[in-house]
Amino acid sequence: MPTLNKKTIPFTLKQIRILARKYPTPFYVYDEAGIRKSIRNLLETFSWNQGFKEYFPVKAIPNPEILNILKEEGCCADCCSVPELMLAKGVGLTGESIMLTSNDTGPEEFKMARQTRAIINLDDPNHLRYIEKLAGLPEVLCLRYNPGPIKQKGRLTWKHLTDQKFGMRKDQLLKTYKQGMKKGIRRFGLHMMIMSNDLNGEHFVDTARICFDFAIELRRTIGINLEFIDLGGGVGIPYRLYQKPINMTAVAEKIRTMYEERVSNGDLAPCRLFAECGRLITGQHGYLVATVRSVKESYKYFAGLDATMADLMRPGMYGSYHHISVLGKQDKGPTVIYDVIGSLCENNDKFAIDRKLPSLAQGDIVVFYDVGAYGRGKVFDFNGKLRPAEFLLRDDGSFQRIRRAETPKDYFRTICGWEVRGEKLKRQEP
Ligand SMILES: *Cc1c(COP(=O)(O)O)cnc(C)c1O
Repeated sequence: MPTLNKKTIPFTLKQIRILARKYPTPFYVYDEAGIRKSIRNLLETFSWNQGFKEYFPVKAIPNPEILNILKEEGCCADCCSVPELMLAKGVGLTGESIMLTSNDTGPEEFKMARQTRAIINLDDPNHLRYIEKLAGLPEVLCLRYNPGPIKQKGRLTWKHLTDQKFGMRKDQLLKTYKQGMKKGIRRFGLHMMIMSNDLNGEHFVDTARICFDFAIELRRTIGINLEFIDLGGGVGIPYRLYQKPINMTAVAEKIRTMYEERVSNGDLAPCRLFAECGRLITGQHGYLVATVRSVKESYKYFAGLDATMADLMRPGMYGSYHHISVLGKQDKGPTVIYDVIGSLCENNDKFAIDRKLPSLAQGDIVVFYDVGAYGRGKVFDFNGKLRPAEFLLRDDGSFQRIRRAETPKDYFRTICGWEVRGEKLKRQEP
């Protein structure tokens, strides 16, 4: 038997009951202390690299209060849309503390990023000419690398990368860097992200190795020294009880050894390293709290919640596992097998299939773990489901509401010619 993780909840049933009296479930709760601890750990493990920076991917949890906490801890922000750039600027990040790593990028995104003097990651060789015409040449030319299939120790690895829409081939990178030099750009960066929710730390080491080797090649062939290398994100978290977290200390040490062998000895130092870990920082510090509405027996037992897939898309979309606890029944053994469902008219709307839980009753409060990244950020409003609130559990034990739940008025706000008056939807008077 593998040893199982212990997952803990930083609040009690009593606290949630009090909160839910005023603000009905479902809602998200984020644990400030946990988020601060995670970011401090990451920054500490890479502190050997002068100028190391974490560009937190705003999409993982797009709330300014959370980004503000991360900024207090020294994070920068990685954005890929106008609202995300607004978020980063809104918390006071400026200039090269903001990065635009988009793909299929639109003109408004390029323009705003240029005006902000953010670092812009180009994902397409055509983008250099495009941005020059649209908003002027960037000060730093940072390109997104997709290495394709890679031979490592005689083995072909990362075969799936040719299907990835992100990044450019090596020959395209070389050509684009050369073009940038010709146009007078003097500062260069490299971005590569080939992992996604990956629990194999060696893959982060691979990422660094591929980038360092490319940096050496770049220096040798066209005489460019990279100012920074952005290793991206994609570090996974143990959603399941038997999974082990990546030992980032060990990973960072391996990268350090490689940096000293290849980058320092290759006369390429100083080269700053960047990371863009989202899930690793906030994933485990978010909880979705919901109430059991009904327990139905048909061909199976269905535990129906007041939350739906519209509040947490991952299980329905990817079949992702999110651990579930029933508040106040944590000590009771799981005895009944349920499909845990929401109320969408869509059979995908299941948080868990055949999950053994303590016997459930109407009014029980369930908590989903590990929804601090790609939870609230991916909500949608199918079936007229209103988007849920977010609370921040502060260091002092208080709950701060950092986003209210939507109302029908919010739901209809963008409809033209109609408006909500009282409880009624009415055609607007001319
Ligand atoms: C999504 C994304 C990240 C973050 O990925 P995590 O899995 O949350 O670490 C970082 N960089 C880019 C460019 C991304 O698209």
